[in-house]
Formats: sequence, C-alpha cells, structure tokens
Amino acid sequence: MATVLSTIAGSETNVSDEALEELRTAIRGNVLTPGDEAYERVRAPYNAMQIDQPGLIVQCAGTADVVDAVNFARSNGLEVAVRGGGHSVAGLSSSNGGMLIDLSLMNGVFVDAEARLARVQGGALWGDVDRETQLHGLAAPGGIVSDTGVAGLTLGGGEGWLRRKYGLSCDNLVAAEVVGADGQVRVASADSSPDLFWALRGGGGNFGVVTSFTFQLHPLGPIVAFAGIFYPLADAVTILRKFRDFGDSAPEEVSAVAIGVTMPADPSLPPEVHDQHCLVIGGVYAGGADEGMTALQPLRELGTPLADISQPMPYTVVQSAFDGFFPRQQWQSYWKSTFLKELSDDAIDLIAEKARERPSPLSMMVTFLWGGAINKVGSEDTAFTERSASWMASVDGNWADPSENDDNVGWVRDTWSAISTFGTGSVYLNFTGISDEETDVGVDSAHGKNLRRLSEVKAKYDPDNFFRLNNNITPADS
Ligand SMILES: Cc1cc2nc3c(=O)[nH]c(=O)nc-3n(C[C@H](O)[C@H](O)[C@H](O)COP(=O)(O)OP(=O)(O)OC[C@H]3O[C@@H](n4cnc5c(N)ncnc54)[C@H](O)[C@@H]3O)c2cc1C
Repeated sequence: MATVLSTIAGSETNVSDEALEELRTAIRGNVLTPGDEAYERVRAPYNAMQIDQPGLIVQCAGTADVVDAVNFARSNGLEVAVRGGGHSVAGLSSSNGGMLIDLSLMNGVFVDAEARLARVQGGALWGDVDRETQLHGLAAPGGIVSDTGVAGLTLGGGEGWLRRKYGLSCDNLVAAEVVGADGQVRVASADSSPDLFWALRGGGGNFGVVTSFTFQLHPLGPIVAFAGIFYPLADAVTILRKFRDFGDSAPEEVSAVAIGVTMPADPSLPPEVHDQHCLVIGGVYAGGADEGMTALQPLRELGTPLADISQPMPYTVVQSAFDGFFPRQQWQSYWKSTFLKELSDDAIDLIAEKARERPSPLSMMVTFLWGGAINKVGSEDTAFTERSASWMASVDGNWADPSENDDNVGWVRDTWSAISTFGTGSVYLNFTGISDEETDVGVDSAHGKNLRRLSEVKAKYDPDNFFRLNNNITPADS
C-alpha cells in the first residue's frame, strides 16, 4: 500500500507505508493522514473559503521534527505548506494533497524579564505571547486578535495597537531560528546570517520554517487606556474627517482605527448597537492609563455616539476585544488593502460610500491610523519597505454563504481598485486574499525596491523555491 501525495512539480507520487512508518517513528509530534481522528481538527484553517485537504500532516513538537518533516518532503519531492496560526486569509498555509507542516504544538513563550526579551515558538498565537509577557508587565507589539499566529503576522510585518509607539512586530524581532529548505538549522540575527535576518522582517514565509522568534519587549500595562466608540455609519463622512484631523497630529502612543461594519446582536455588546450599521472607532494608548484616557478623549467627541465603551482595561482584555468579530472556519473571507500617504476628503467620501454599500453585514471597511515608529525605520533596513504611509485602508470581505462568493469578491475588488487610486501603490501582504489569483499577487507592489534583494536572498537559502505556498518570491537567476 502507498499514500498518494501532491508533488512540488504539480504531479502525484506514491509514498510507501514503510516510508510513512519510518517518519512516524522519528516524529515526536503527530503524523496524520485523512481518516485519522485528529486530521479534521488540525487541517482546518481560519478562512472557510480555502479548501484544504492535505494528504499528510506533520504536527511538529520541536525543531528536530521540523527538520525531519522538511527532509522527508524534499526527498519525496512533496509540495509543502507551513502553518503557524492558520490565519492566512489567502489560504497560504493550506495544502491540497501535499504535506502540511503544522506548528500548533510549538506554542511555548519564554520570557527573560531582565533582558526584556521573549523567545516565542513558531506555532504560538498572540494570546500566548500576551499572557506570558504581561506577567512581567511587558509586551511585544503583535496583532489585535488573540488567536492570530505570531509567525505569519511577524514575517509579513505585523501591526497592532502598539504600532505607532514601538513599530511593527518585525521591527521588534532580534533573532529567529530557521529550518531551511536544505534541512539545516540557522540562527538569523544582526550578527548571524544578517541577509536572512533582513529578509525575514517582511519577506514572509519564503526562506524556511521559523521555529522560534526572539522579540524585544516593552513595559506596558497591565491596565491601558482603550477607546471603543460606536458612531452611526450614516455620519461616517463627518466622523472620518475629524478622525483624520485627530490622527494627523496624534501622539505616537496612540494607535487607532475606524471600522465601517454592521454590529451583531451579541449580548456582550451594548443593545443600542445591535444590528446597527456603525463606524466603530477603536484606539489604544501605549503608556499610562490616565494620561491615555485624556489623549483618547477627542475620539469620544467626534459626533453623537450610539454607545461608548471606552475605559481603562487590562491589556490582555484589549488584545482579545475583537476576537468575537473573527470566528475560525465560519466565514468566507477575501481581503485587500492599500497604504495611503494622506487621507484626503475624496478618499473619505469613497470609504464612507463603500462602507454603506457592503453586500455583507460581516464585511468591514477599515481605516488604520499608521505612521509613527513604523516610519522611523528606513525603507531598505528591513524587507518591509513601505515606511512613508500615514494611513492604511483595508477592504475586509467576510460573508457566511459560499453561494455569495462572486458578489462579495467582486465588491472587494471594485472597492480596492477605487481606493487604490488614492494609495501609495503598495499593499499590505498580510491582508491579501486569494481567490483565483496566483500566490504572488501583490508581491511586486508590496516589496517594491526591496524585491530584487529579496529574490537574491531567496536564491541563496531556497534556490528551488521549495517554500512556495506563501506570498511567493521567485529566486533570482544565479
Ligand atoms: C482574524 C484575523 C485578524 C488579523 N489581525 C491582524 C492584525 O491585527 N495585524 C496584522 O498585521 N495582521 C493581522 N491579520 C493578518 C495576519 O497577519 C496574516 O493572516 C498572517 O499570515 C497570519 O499568521 P498565521 O501564522 O496565523 O498564518 P498562517 O496561515 O499559519 O501562515 C501565513 C503564512 O506564513 C507562513 N508561515 C506560518 N508560520 C510560519 C513559520 N513558522 N515559518 C515560516 N513561515 C510560516 C505560511 O506558510 C503562510 O505563507 C489578521 C488575520 C485574521 C484572519
């Protein structure tokens, strides 16, 4: 007997039972095939739109398992997908018929409070990081949803509530342990494989499986100032203009966002917003809670709110406050984004109009206040090159019924094309959806002048493009 698996060359190969048994014996984690009890649970990624049926899952327990999985895939010519948290909206950690290297068992977080460093395993989620770092009154800049993976988010940049004070997640990376396509384990840092270290900070999963990330930490909390105000979407133009004026001169401690969305009738939300079309203003102050509430006060006075839940709250609570918006495996999702140098009146008119026209109540028009510390890093200092934007607009299509895919994908594409006319020409690859596009969609515009250097690093560490299920960078010709 043999197991049929997809190859990197796009064909199929038979892997013998003996070979699989040998792999099972070596791996300390789990080796799963369709029919195994845990297979269905492990294989399911965040986005229900992505069909995902790996022929083989290696659920790694540590770096040695990752090395064996990579070597097994390479020697059998298998197509490989790598998964950290599984939150790729584009489905870039999903496989149809190939091998999935799943890191979800590798979620350890080890804090050195004195050195203000955290070593985080490659399958950890941001909730894991916040829990351990907050024990010491420290934080690593991460995402705003607690079950997003550290790995994919950091490798693609990584923005959250601390972005304007402390920069992107990748800006706070000081070292990474990486298993390369050759099965070798390397440490990438400023002093060790610096070219790889440069590429990992924004270049995505192109260069190997990152088994651990070491982050610089910052003192924060446990209580931080949080703004959460629900304005009527009908007032979006006025509110967004005032939001823009506030953002253009806000201190770097403030990171804020405006979300056009229809609120669910969830008992945890104020009844005034149930089923209401809202412009939700969210904000966090990366500093003292009292001074933060003062700094965020203008966001509470942009108009007449339907409800206002702003208050000082534990940072760990803030970091999971938006989780309810994003249930795993329930929605079809297709997102696109563009960076903006400025938020003009015309761009605001368009954002407000498109927010009103959303075909699905679950979809969101999101306007991020950007800049601050992100823009203090040079555009060639890390692979993440967009260092001049002050705003980012993200068109997040979410809907429940797969029969509505065409309408919703169409709305995202039309809206994104329209808003991109105000953009810098650069997209945020972490917010890229893929339906019928190739996996390198947006890669040119996101990496811009860094693309050439990235393709050279790719050629050095992965000349055969073994790691290709990602925002793919073609290896440079040698
Ligand atoms: C609900 C939701 C909320 C989000 N919120 C934010 C946010 O606040 N801020 C933000 O910046 N982004 C956010 N994102 C986008 C997010 O950054 C990307 O989807 C990111 O890819 C998720 O990382 P992951 O590890 O969960 O993804 P995965 O799906 O596991 O992987 C994504 C990509 O990274 C690669 N990869 C994963 N793990 C590794 C590894 N260990 N080594 C090498 N490559 C690896 C995969 O192969 C794939 O190409 C959000 C996405 C969702 C769905």
